[in-house]
Amino acid sequence: MSYTKTTDSNKDEVVFIVDRIIEVRIPNRVYQRYAGRYDDREIISFCTRKDIFNAVTGRRLYYISEESGIPLIGHTAFGIIDRGTNLLQVRPSSGCNLNCIFCSVDEGKGKTKVTDYMVDVDYISKKFEEVSDFKRRHCNAPIEAHIDGQGEPFLYPYIRKLIEKLQGTADIISIQTNGVMLTRDLVKRLDGYVDRINLSLHSMDSSTAKRLSGIPSYDLDHVLEIAEAIAESSIDLLIAPVWVPGYNDKDMKKIIEFGKRIGAGKIWKPFGIQKYVKYKFGRAPKNARIMNFKTFYRKLEEIGEGLHLYPEDFGMVKCASIPKKFKVGERVKLKIEMHGRVRNEMIAVSRDRIVQVVDTSKKVGETVNARIVRNKQNIYVARET
Ligand code: SF4
Repeated sequence: MSYTKTTDSNKDEVVFIVDRIIEVRIPNRVYQRYAGRYDDREIISFCTRKDIFNAVTGRRLYYISEESGIPLIGHTAFGIIDRGTNLLQVRPSSGCNLNCIFCSVDEGKGKTKVTDYMVDVDYISKKFEEVSDFKRRHCNAPIEAHIDGQGEPFLYPYIRKLIEKLQGTADIISIQTNGVMLTRDLVKRLDGYVDRINLSLHSMDSSTAKRLSGIPSYDLDHVLEIAEAIAESSIDLLIAPVWVPGYNDKDMKKIIEFGKRIGAGKIWKPFGIQKYVKYKFGRAPKNARIMNFKTFYRKLEEIGEGLHLYPEDFGMVKCASIPKKFKVGERVKLKIEMHGRVRNEMIAVSRDRIVQVVDTSKKVGETVNARIVRNKQNIYVARET
């Protein structure tokens, strides 16, 4: 554990930033009671009078270890997601260092999210192994660990350890990133461990890229340099722009030219252009035009060949899902264990699954009578009855 220590005199708290992102706040008088008897590491780990935040987003942060008893299946913000194929999504933490104006989950410093989650590296690797064992018993295809999330995976401080651990279990490791936190040296260190990096790159123009990222300090040149470093390594590079009509229409061709020039797509497809879609909890850029899928695919064909992607392009095949634990419509009594990702949403735990209870005013520790309204892909949502 690495940490820095400061004092917040306004709140009279001792503030530790652990492993660059976990902000631990302890009231000064509580800290003084323990200081001298215990070292800082012990106080950070064992003091019960502490509040934990994500130092990047400023939100309340839950650190989820195996001992917490919180399962890792059932939520889209953390844990493992099994969508019924040979690819398993691995989500070690939530929270982003960018603030993209089109972000489908309103990440970064948005208004809707109130909580972040971070999973212990041993716990999430063990769960991945368990789910991939199940998959191997049901299909012969290679198992891919795809590290992504509602946020930037490289903010997870134990990302390299996670990748090393997954390497012992997964056949393919791919990871999603906006590239900002990568360095040439880190790319070198990932070489041999990661098979593919899906890099978000939305514009070749510095001011458009800043505008889309929502961050004035966004450094396009750095991300382009990282793209080149990945292409020069044995890691495959997939460049994944989001096309926001009215903002970056002219950039798609330029991004393709750039990707071809540096050698993206050594093994898989080089480009994964995504259509901007307006989501309920996402951001909507002002005056962005909404393109329908028919127009989108037609325009992709006009831009170049092979831009319409299919699951088989990435070796994805159907593969039996882990068992569902609740039926839609089922009435359940649930104990609330954590705050949810957004206001009026709480997280309950039952039958080794997470259940998001929406539109509730219940508090942590209370029980709620609810009805399951979603169980698709083992993601559970319930409403109070
Ligand atoms: S990098 Fe991705 S998760 Fe982060 S704000 Fe942008 S779109 Fe959202």
